[in-house]
Amino acid sequence: MSENGKLSRRRFLGTALAAAALVPVAGRGLMATAHAGELAKVTEDDPTAVALGYVHDATKVDTAKFPKRAGDAGASQFCHNCSLYQAAEGEEWGKCSIFPGKLVKGAGWCNAWVAKG
Ligand code: SF4
Repeated sequence: MSENGKLSRRRFLGTALAAAALVPVAGRGLMATAHAGELAKVTEDDPTAVALGYVHDATKVDTAKFPKRAGDAGASQFCHNCSLYQAAEGEEWGKCSIFPGKLVKGAGWCNAWVAKG
């Protein structure tokens, strides 16, 4: 084998080994994405969230701006007791049809809150 042939073979083996070493790392990344989930958590600066006054912590709602959550009746409103909220038992975050493809926090609130029927 010529000197060039040896170098090419060495270079190929080095590249193949480096690629093989990366496979488990890439695989773990994909698995983490698949497990953790499916959906991203909505952010409070999401345009729909801003428009509806959504916050992750319902006790932080600006009740001057969103009086629906003022007073005793308002203080009992949370995503987890809204009719649009869907989460598995014990889950801290759930789906809401107002934010398709995203998760809202059970302790959160927005102005579209509707009592569970
Ligand atoms: Fe939370 Fe209900 Fe508003 Fe959805 S509609 S963000 S579940 S309060």
